[in-house]
Amino acid sequence: MLFFLMALSGYLFWHLYNLLRLQRWLHNADLDKLPVSRGIWGSVFDGIYRLREGSLRRRKRHNRLLKRFYKLAAALPDATVMLGEHDVIEWFNKPAQQLLGLKPSTDVGQNIGNLLRHPLFREYLEGGGGGEPVEIPSPADENVVLSVRLVSYGKNRRLLTARDVTRLHRLEQMRRDFVADVSHELRTPLTVIRGYLEAMAESSGELPREWQRSVVLMEQQTRRMERIVTDLLFLARMENGAQGRRERVDVPALIAAVHEDARALGENGHEFTLEVDPDLLVRGDHEELRSLFSNLVFNAVQYTPAGGKIGIRWWREPTGGAWFEVEDSGPGIAPQHIPRLTERFYRIDVGRSREKGGTGLGLAIVKHVMNRYRGRLEIESTVGKGSRFRCFFPGDLLLPRNEAEPSGFHLTGTISP
Ligand code: ADP
Repeated sequence: MLFFLMALSGYLFWHLYNLLRLQRWLHNADLDKLPVSRGIWGSVFDGIYRLREGSLRRRKRHNRLLKRFYKLAAALPDATVMLGEHDVIEWFNKPAQQLLGLKPSTDVGQNIGNLLRHPLFREYLEGGGGGEPVEIPSPADENVVLSVRLVSYGKNRRLLTARDVTRLHRLEQMRRDFVADVSHELRTPLTVIRGYLEAMAESSGELPREWQRSVVLMEQQTRRMERIVTDLLFLARMENGAQGRRERVDVPALIAAVHEDARALGENGHEFTLEVDPDLLVRGDHEELRSLFSNLVFNAVQYTPAGGKIGIRWWREPTGGAWFEVEDSGPGIAPQHIPRLTERFYRIDVGRSREKGGTGLGLAIVKHVMNRYRGRLEIESTVGKGSRFRCFFPGDLLLPRNEAEPSGFHLTGTISP
């Protein structure tokens, strides 16, 4: 019995001793001071040693990777800012200090919205980022234009990148100014030429016979050139950024006026259907909206053959926002053309467009106007069946007819529906 108790105590003591060594070793940073033991404790020490060694190796590899990533992000020529939850700045590289004016000593831990305060950026940030980047002046130097983009990654994390696009911006501005200046310069000579040609066409009886048709053709072409110049100037005005007016526009009245003009234009006797919400108004620029509606409706009239159907609709979407739609039973558009229709001077059939007096700028104007209203243009078409052009207006631009008119706005639109 005594011998048995002594053996048990010895065994217990051996276990406690090894447990103590294990505890000391685990708290000891030096992995190599592995306690030597036999039997079951030898294999426990061995197993734990291998686990610790594996995890240490993994940690070193992760650290190496992390360092490499920081070096890479720091070497990026674009400003890069890592944002954590609630868009709080966690880290940024050197170009972010130069381009965005961020300071490592004070700005880490701050909300990016408090440091980049440009309204366009704040709107972009609050809208969730993504999509097209926004262009804003640099907070560090307002002569520098930045293209800022937000990309989501992981849970509630975003990466902000900003590129210096000043050179591109200047070139773009030069191009716009050039187009606007040329259009402006052409306007007066064209008006003079058209005036003389009109006078000659009116008294064409006095002209030699071989000149009579030429004068009429010259007058038509001069009118077309004038329309191109007017459209180019309209586009240039919108492109030059000045925000259009935000007046109360009576859209139903405007649609009625455009419909009247379209009926007068279409000698082919089209069958029109109008479904218009009479109480749905928009806060916007009357001229821009008139151009948008008339371009779409006149296109439908011009490209739809005699007796075709044209539907014009204007309604409020139950989930917010409103749609303006023009549907026709015309020849339709093949799918490969649809993405390019809003490019300037893109025409499927150049001859036909010219013959109809088109400028090739109508849909470019429609797209521009929709961009200015943060809306979108959708085009659906089936060859041989017809086309549908739809414009979406965001809900915050809509006004009910009977809402008290805020001061500063005035009612426009001349023909009641
Ligand atoms: P255009 O002055 O030539 O009409 P737009 O920019 O308005 O210029 O339209 C571009 C092209 O899109 C047109 O040339 C025409 O080929 C096509 N298009 C526009 N609307 C329609 C339509 N309703 N049906 C068929 N084709 C259309």
